[in-house]
Order: sequence, then structure tokens, then C-alpha cells
Amino acid sequence: LEPLYSFMIRARVPGGICTPEQWLAIDDMADRYANGSIRITTRQAFQFHGVIKKNLKPTIAAINQQLMDTIAACGDVNRNVMCTANPELSSIHYRVYQDAKAISDHLTPQTSAYHEIWIDGEKVKSESKTDHEPIYGKTYLPRKFKIAVVIPPDNDVDVLAHDLGFIAIIENHELVGYNVTVGGGMGTTHGDSSTFPLLAHTLGFCTPDQVLLVAENTVKIQRDHGDRTNRKHARFKYTVDDHGIDWLRGQLSDHMGQPLLAAKKIEFTHNGDRFGWRKNLDGSWNHTLFIANGRVKDDGMNSLRTALREIAQIHQGNFRLTANQNLIIAQVPDSAKNQIDQLLGLYKINQQVSLTRQLSMACVALPTCSLAMAEAERYLPELINQIDGLQQKHHISNRGIMIRMTGCPNGCARPFIAEIGFVGKALGRYNMYLGGKPDGTRLNQLYLENITESDILKQLDDIFSHYAKDAISNESFGDFVIRAQYVSAVTHGKQVHLK
Ligand code: SF4
Repeated sequence: LEPLYSFMIRARVPGGICTPEQWLAIDDMADRYANGSIRITTRQAFQFHGVIKKNLKPTIAAINQQLMDTIAACGDVNRNVMCTANPELSSIHYRVYQDAKAISDHLTPQTSAYHEIWIDGEKVKSESKTDHEPIYGKTYLPRKFKIAVVIPPDNDVDVLAHDLGFIAIIENHELVGYNVTVGGGMGTTHGDSSTFPLLAHTLGFCTPDQVLLVAENTVKIQRDHGDRTNRKHARFKYTVDDHGIDWLRGQLSDHMGQPLLAAKKIEFTHNGDRFGWRKNLDGSWNHTLFIANGRVKDDGMNSLRTALREIAQIHQGNFRLTANQNLIIAQVPDSAKNQIDQLLGLYKINQQVSLTRQLSMACVALPTCSLAMAEAERYLPELINQIDGLQQKHHISNRGIMIRMTGCPNGCARPFIAEIGFVGKALGRYNMYLGGKPDGTRLNQLYLENITESDILKQLDDIFSHYAKDAISNESFGDFVIRAQYVSAVTHGKQVHLK
């Protein structure tokens, strides 16, 4: 006998696009092997929770049968490559998605061990004792590596929170290339000021045919120069911060045999998803559904999982997992729109939620994540009930405020970009951060430490009262708390811990 261990399994979904057949298979696996729920992660992947040890191998094999995989969903390699889910630019989206998928394929580890261990038990390369990893080498990377691809003006993937980012440049309705960004990342450690979140710098511009070269060589630079002596200092953001952006530019130029071109001007105007039905350029429709913290399940109040299963059975387009834990039912022909509306109505899928709730995001935290110090997914909806009440009291419900919560400072729900970020310290206690910019281009700053729900609500009551009286026209909450000097505008991640 041994303890009944249970595990989390993450399935990679590059760019977050999956077919209805894949959705149905994922739905089936949720019952067969996991705890009956599906979770859409903040990085456009699926997670299963509560997978008991004897079900690990069949679950991973079943995921692979659906042409998805779990390789590089964890570990010190490149992870799931994210891509903007912007439905309005669908003709460009598919072109950009292809680049995201190509990056993902190019950086997938070549090891045969994954298949030998998890898929069929057959030795793939019996004649060779070691795998050849052309990009990762023998040592792999010092830490995980995250890449995102985005189409402005939306910044729905929080591109600057990633080790490497590609910002699509569109001229005359054509993709001409990408601005390349480097050195973003969220994770910190409480009480250790040598760790901090960072937003990425812009490195330059590359053409579409240089994308794989840029991705491969950036990963190789991190492989060779990342800190392997201190895991808390091993992410690429510290390599870039320590050596400087000019050093990295020179390194990349040497590796590629030519420098990147100068970056083009871009502007982000929006972060998060655009909900409801929206028409695509090709005449089909996309419907973005709000999914509270990405959890798809049936319970007494909610038949979301059943509704989505029935929609997948008739859907002719695809699904897109967004980076904000929501789901797009994409490429719906005009003729099928009513049927989908009827199914959503039949199962009473409630989309009438506040603007602030629409923008909210929480990591899994307790009881599933072993690193969690406090609740997040199970608690944030309740806290937002109270915050909605405060917004109503101060007549500011028309202002969506981006609130994100994590159970620890690893930052999986990217709380250090939010206008209000909560990071767990202990059960029922959080650090509260204020001042992120709603387009994802400014970090927030620690406002109060180790506070309880009543402290949070008291503080927000006062600040909302002030905001309601003194905000300038469309001034966002994040901008207001800086102008009103609750916190300072952060220009480097080290300032996040200061007040
Ligand atoms: Fe777990 Fe921390 Fe990530 Fe939340 S932020 S899922 S608690 S590691």
C-alpha cells in the first residue's frame, strides 16, 4: 500500500486553438481520469486536477491520441506558446497563429524518453544511449521559458510578461514582421528583494522568416548565460536585467549573423477579452464566454461543462482558449448561431457579470497547488461580490477594474500587472498591489502587506470613494492611484516591493 497521490496534468495547446473533437475528448478525460472538471489556464492550456497515480499514463496517452501533448508543459524548457485570440482580425490571426505553432514545434524537446515512458513503452532509439537535443543540449535551460505572440492593439496575452515576445506588425492588412521583446516574467519570493517581476524590453524588429531563428537563438543565449547556481535567479529576465539589453542585442546579432532591424511603433489599447458575439471578416461569428477563473464544471448551480459538451457536438468551427481563462466558440456560421444561443440559454449559462469580474483572474492555489499559501480560485469570486458592492455604492460600476489574485508570489495569474493585485501570504492574508496599467504595460506596486478581507474592503471603500470624486474623465483606476499618490509609477521591477 502507498498513499493515494493525486497529480495535475497540463495539456499544451499552442495558441489555444482546439477542435470540437479535441474538446469532447478533453471532456471525456475529465470524468474518466480526473476530478470531473476542466481548467483553462492563464497560458491557454488545459489542466486536469485530481489525477491519481495509476491514471497518469492513460491520461497522457489519451491526450496524445488527440494530437495534443504534455511534453514541455512543465520543466526547464520552452512552455506552451501563447497567441492572441483576437477574433476581429481572423485573417491575420491565422497567419500569426501559424508562426506561434511553428515556434512551439521548433522548440519542443526531441527527447525520446517522453514517448518511451508515457505513450507506448517502446524504446524509440534503442541504438543510442542519449538523446540529441539540438537546441537545449545536454543541460536543457536553467529555468522554464515562456513565449507569447500578440496582435496589437489588443494585448490579451500580456506579451510583456514573457521571456520572449513577438508583437505582430501589420501594414496594409499584411503581416510584415514582429517587434521582438525580451526579459519579462512575474515570479518573486516573499521577503527576498533580489527577486522581482519585470516587464520585457523591446529588442528590435524581425521579418516573419526570421521568427524561428530569433526564438532558437534567444533560447540558446539563455541556455549558455542563464544563472545555474541559484534557481531563484535563473529566469531569463534576470539574465537580461544583469547584462543589459545592449549586451543581448549584440549576442543575438552574433548568433544570427546580422542585427535585428529597429523596432516599429506599436500601441496597445486593450487587455483582456471582448465578450459576446462578434462578426469575423469572413462573415462567420465568434462568441467569447466568460469562464470564472477558467473552471469548466457542472455543479448544483452551473451546467457549463454539459453546455460546452453539447455545443462541441454540433460546432463546425473551433474553440480558442484565451490567455484570460475564457473560451471563444470560434468560426460559427450564421446558420448555427441560434442553436448555440439556445444551448447556452437551455443550461442558463449566465454571462451577466460585472465589468470588474469579467477582467478578473485567479490561479488555482488551494487545494490543488502545493506552493499555495492562500486561496485564490475558490476565494476571488466571493471577494469580487463584495468589491462589486463597493463599486455600486460609489457609482463606479461602469469602470471595469482589473483584479488578479494568486495563492503565492510565483505569479501564475500575472498579478503584478493588474490594477489591483492580491498575492497570498498565509491563509486569509494577502499582499495588495496597486497601479498596473490596463493595457499590460506597467507593473503595480505593493500598497499594503499581509492584510485580511476586512482590511482589503476598508481600503477599497476609501480609495473607491476618492476615485469616484476625483477621477479625470476616463482615467483608469490604475492611473488614478498613481496620480493620487497611493503608489508610485513603477519603471523597474525592483520598485514593485517598495512603497
Ligand atoms: Fe500555485 Fe503560486 Fe502558481 Fe498560484 S501562483 S498556481 S499558488 S504556484
